[in-house]
Formats: sequence, C-alpha cells, structure tokens
Amino acid sequence: MNENQKQDLLTCSRTELEELLQARGKRAFHGRQLDAWIWRKGVFEIDEMTDLSKELRASLRDEFEVKVPKIVEVVTGEGENSATKYLFELSDGARVEAVYIPSEDRVTVCLSSQVGCAFGCKFCATGLLGLARNMTTAEIMGTFLMIRANSEKRISNVVFMGMGEPLANLKPVTEAWDRLTDPDGIGLSRRKVTISTVGLPPKIRLLAEREYPPKLVFSICSADEERRRELLPVAGRFTLDENYEALMDYANRTRNRITVAYLVADGLNDTIEEARKLDRWLRDLPAKINMLRYNEAVGDFRRPSEEKVEEVAAELVRLGRTVVLRTSRGRDIAAACGQLAARQITKQKSEDSIE
Ligand code: SF4
Repeated sequence: MNENQKQDLLTCSRTELEELLQARGKRAFHGRQLDAWIWRKGVFEIDEMTDLSKELRASLRDEFEVKVPKIVEVVTGEGENSATKYLFELSDGARVEAVYIPSEDRVTVCLSSQVGCAFGCKFCATGLLGLARNMTTAEIMGTFLMIRANSEKRISNVVFMGMGEPLANLKPVTEAWDRLTDPDGIGLSRRKVTISTVGLPPKIRLLAEREYPPKLVFSICSADEERRRELLPVAGRFTLDENYEALMDYANRTRNRITVAYLVADGLNDTIEEARKLDRWLRDLPAKINMLRYNEAVGDFRRPSEEKVEEVAAELVRLGRTVVLRTSRGRDIAAACGQLAARQITKQKSEDSIE
C-alpha cells in the first residue's frame, strides 16, 4: 500500500477508531488511546504513540496515517501579541489560510471553511478568488491542529471567519465545531467556538435545530438594503428582513445573543446615518455589535479614520446598543481573509508569465 492510499485517521470518529482496532483483534480501549494521541496530545506520527505496543504501531502505520496539511507560509506581525497568519497546502495542492490571534485575555484562531468562496463580496480578497471547493472536516481540523501544535499558549477561542462562507459548507463546519468542543478531545468551551455568516436564512434555521447550537456572527456590512446588495451580491439575494427573522428565531430558540459584525470602510458605512440605520434594523434583536475596521487591500475600499469609527460606535452606544470595538491588529500580515492566498496566486501568476 503506498502513502497515498493510507487512510487518514483524522476522518475517523472515536467510535470508528475503537471499531477499527477491534477489527484487528485489539481492545476498543486502544482506539480511545489513538484518539487521545491525535486530538488531545496533538501527536501525528503513529510511531510516537508510545502507549501502543510496537507491534500495533507497526501494523497501524502500514495502513493509516494522520494527514495534516502542510504549512507553506507563516507571517507574524510586529510587536507583542501580534497575529500570525498561516498559509496551508492541502493534499490536492489547494491553499487555505488561518490566523492565530493572541491577546491578553484569550487566544483566538480564525479558520477557513472553503477553498475560495462563491459569494463574491466586493471588499473581500477571497471573494475575488471564486470557489474552488469545500473543505472537508478533516482538512478544517488539520489546520487547527497544526496551529495548536505551533502555539505556545492555550487556544481558547475559534471563529469560522476565514476563507469561505461557513454555512455554505454546513455539515463539515458543524462536524468541526463538534470536534473542537468535544469534552474528551480538544475540549474548547461551546461558548467560545463561533460560526460567522453573511446571511443564509435557511441554513441559519437548520443550525438552530442542533442539540448544541453554536454562537453565531452575522456580517451585515450595511443596514441599507441597496448598499448591502451591491456589496454582497450573492448573500444580498436574501433580504435584510429575511435575515432578521431567521436571526430572531435563532436567538429565541437557542437563547444565544447574536453578534452582528459591522465592517467599517471609509466613505461607505462610517456615517452617523448608517449607524442609525443599523440601530433601526436591530430593533429587538438580542445582539451585540462587533465593529471591525476595513483592512485596506481590495478594490477601492479603504480603511476608515479612527475618528469616524469612534463616532459611529458612540452613536450606537448612545442609541442603547452594546458595541465591541477592539484594537485593530493584523494590517502588517494581510490578516483579512484571502489576502495571503490571493498574494500567493498573484505571485504564482507572475512567475508563470516570466517562464
Ligand atoms: Fe466569501 Fe466571506 Fe469573503 Fe463574502 S466575505 S466573499 S462570504 S469569504
């Protein structure tokens, strides 16, 4: 059996690992040991799983492996607590990004869910790439495991806010959420693994039916219907009203407050009028607003002035809204999703044209 035919252990649930070992005449318990090596201890070489007998390791190694993605580029910003962006290569050569974001009170990892994205949001580098394919659960988790293996600090939070629209790849993303929050595995708090969406009401409703519904971030960009449709040509096919109803149902059913991400760009939505529109759209939705500054890189969009950002935040607070405005980091590492992958593709194209 050659390397490529080996089965990836990241695709196996704990029960499947138990069955796999039992099928080889071993006790189910060894399957749980294998599971703990991979998910709790982050060991990917079967030979290093030292509480399994040498003979068992040798027979497993012939048929199985842990296929983690290859890290092809790591870019860390300057200064204390700066973010680090990883570019990964998957087994078919596809490239995706993830970002490691330490801060004083938490360490967050931002994961991708698709290779590229079909949604074509105008301000987004990933949107310019188009969709190549969905990521599998094992691929998503492989990126997390590699970042954890390279992290000196304990990762406390995960957000699905990287390349791709997570709800357009719902099953693998929710399976990855289950993996991340598995108390016998990675063990992150369910309140600290968040899924972000540009707004797909039918999928939001499906997500609400889960036994453990994740915390949800809705990226609004603008509470002006026309403007939003221009900015989010695909997601904008669902109206703001349709999204509002789905989010309200989600909040009521799950007892989870919604986070509304408001990405502010210069001259686009950095006005008091836009802040008031957002307030009117929010009405009674149990929500907090997470204000993000645009990280100038795509098309004509530009980073807003701090003064304008603070004006918008102050107006929303005056209107009684809860606003989170974090210190902006990551400008020097192309931290907005897709920027590193886009840069790699551009680099590849220019190298191709030289040849
Ligand atoms: Fe896709 Fe999200 Fe970028 Fe829109 S913002 S194109 S949904 S990755």
